[in-house]
Amino acid sequence: MSRPVPDVAVVGAGPAGLAAAYALVRRGRTVRVLEAAGAVGGRMRTVREHGCLIDTGAEMFPGRAGYPATWELIADLGLDRDPAAVPNVRDALAVWRGGRSRPNAGRPLGLVTGAGLGPRARFDLVRLQVRLARLGDLDPDRPERAGIAAETVADLVRPYHPDLYDHLVHPLVSGFFGWDPGRSAAAPFAAHLAACGGSHTWHTYRDGMDTLARALAGRLDVTTDHPVTRVTGEDGLVRVESPRGTVIARAVVLAVPAPVAAGLYDDPRPAAREFLAACGYTPMLRVSLVTDTPPEGEPRSFATLIPESEDSLLNVITLDHRKHPGRVPRGRGLISLIPSPRGCRELLDAPGRTVAERLLARARRFVPGLPAAPSHVRVHRFRHGLPEATPAALRLRGAFARRPVAAVEYAGDWVPLRPCSEGAVSSAALAVERIQAHLSSPARRPAVPAGEEQR
Ligand SMILES: Cc1cc2nc3c(=O)[nH]c(=O)nc-3n(C[C@H](O)[C@H](O)[C@H](O)COP(=O)(O)OP(=O)(O)OC[C@H]3O[C@@H](n4cnc5c(N)ncnc54)[C@H](O)[C@@H]3O)c2cc1C
Repeated sequence: MSRPVPDVAVVGAGPAGLAAAYALVRRGRTVRVLEAAGAVGGRMRTVREHGCLIDTGAEMFPGRAGYPATWELIADLGLDRDPAAVPNVRDALAVWRGGRSRPNAGRPLGLVTGAGLGPRARFDLVRLQVRLARLGDLDPDRPERAGIAAETVADLVRPYHPDLYDHLVHPLVSGFFGWDPGRSAAAPFAAHLAACGGSHTWHTYRDGMDTLARALAGRLDVTTDHPVTRVTGEDGLVRVESPRGTVIARAVVLAVPAPVAAGLYDDPRPAAREFLAACGYTPMLRVSLVTDTPPEGEPRSFATLIPESEDSLLNVITLDHRKHPGRVPRGRGLISLIPSPRGCRELLDAPGRTVAERLLARARRFVPGLPAAPSHVRVHRFRHGLPEATPAALRLRGAFARRPVAAVEYAGDWVPLRPCSEGAVSSAALAVERIQAHLSSPARRPAVPAGEEQR
């Protein structure tokens, strides 16, 4: 049976697509969301298995100052009515140095305790923070406007004590952004850092990182298992093709990673084509391990960064049972291992067993009580893990942002070149403004056919 033509089809039910669809519905538009996977959430999905809540991609988010668009949605949906539903992550970040995990990294207390940095490096961390505060032109939604737009992260940190790079910035940027600091632009990183503050502001969702996605999807018309294969514009309407059938809509938001969007739709606007082509992604991998008990001798922090000089393959160890005890049945352990960018590239296509064995063998040096055979193992792979944000992409972003509005628009963390869920959610607001402008223009109002094609 045919369904009425929606105003907007949104491709992708990650944070960007769902936030865009929700805002459009609130403005009175009819919207269908089409998602390739079997569940919503994208790279912010949580799986429920072996009695655990296992976050597959994103794991935490900072406070309101750093993620205003996210927190606005959280409040709008009433998710923070019970403050325990969005708890603060305690003892969030440590750095491995000198044979042990050093807590209080990335927070003011770390300047006193050391957090793996000697006095000179700590002094230089303050100097770097003062420099960033003085820049005054750091905007996470418009990173290309910063005076440091041509610099890479490595350029930004080079003038300071080398420990700052080796024992904080490099492991942080490679572990959480998936970036090679010598390739990726300083401005999005600096703007993100300046907006978010320290690791003491980190929060998580008690009921899994997909909480926001599930709450949004529950209020929307979402079809899962619907992979979109091609998007074309015709006679003022847009055809969204899939083996599941073709949906026709007045407008489309492509809320998928840039390389996927470029493969689906041949955008006639040169500024869009060029920016999309420049938006590369780095792959990401995470191995989740469920253990019968929390490992003996585990660090007391949620996440421990492993500098490259300590291990070139393993970059971050997180103890998810410390992030929130509800992630696992009482008394068990849930540990995640995240490889370095080199490790992600090397292991992305390796069999799951190989990935788990190689990372576990490395991790036992840092968490000696980790069992060789955990009771449950899951490997999560993201070919399009995080947007790389090179200075070349940054140069093209201004023209992309100024492109004329059209029936096909974009949302996603790559739009502001900010590799996090706030980048995705904030990009949705922009896409909605543009779609509204397109749909409201009388010149663009097409004759709508009776229904869509279904196969
Ligand atoms: C390992 C890892 C750790 C992370 N940690 C954090 C963190 O701690 N904090 C944080 O804020 N961010 C984190 N992120 C980043 C965050 O997850 C992303 O920025 C965010 O999910 C991007 O949202 P999005 O909607 O733009 O894209 P996605 O979440 O990727 O959503 C896109 C959706 O489109 C769907 N799709 C793709 N192709 C098609 C198609 N052809 N047809 C239909 N649907 C399609 C996908 O299945 C997906 O559901 C992390 C990411 C990874 C990979």
